[in-house]
Amino acid sequence: MARILIIEDNPANMLLMVYLLKAFGHEPLEASSGTAGLDLAQRAAPQLVLCDLQLPGMDGYEIARRLKADNDLKSIPLIAVTAYAMVGDREKALASGFDGYIAKPINPETFVSEVENYLRSGRSSSAA
Ligand code: MN
Repeated sequence: MARILIIEDNPANMLLMVYLLKAFGHEPLEASSGTAGLDLAQRAAPQLVLCDLQLPGMDGYEIARRLKADNDLKSIPLIAVTAYAMVGDREKALASGFDGYIAKPINPETFVSEVENYLRSGRSSSAA
């Protein structure tokens, strides 16, 4: 079981991710904006962060820059969850500091196992 921060502004996507993670025994934390997400990341010490790219205000790329510039937070695996499907988006996300990428629409059959793979192989040594 892991504490997983989700930064996502779409309520339906948030609901689905929270439901699936809880069903597999994980502890999701919810933030609907970048500001709230950065605040929770600092206060709650999540073991992994799932982050939408398209958010109102601060976008996912800026969130990635800030998390990866913070010595206390940069080792937490940061995974983009996004519908962006154009060639180069994955590379842009990885170049911006993301450690991985999960494509929307979220596939309920594979989502949690993808997340758990990143928990194991991400940069965090304290992952569950
Ligand atoms: Mn969004």
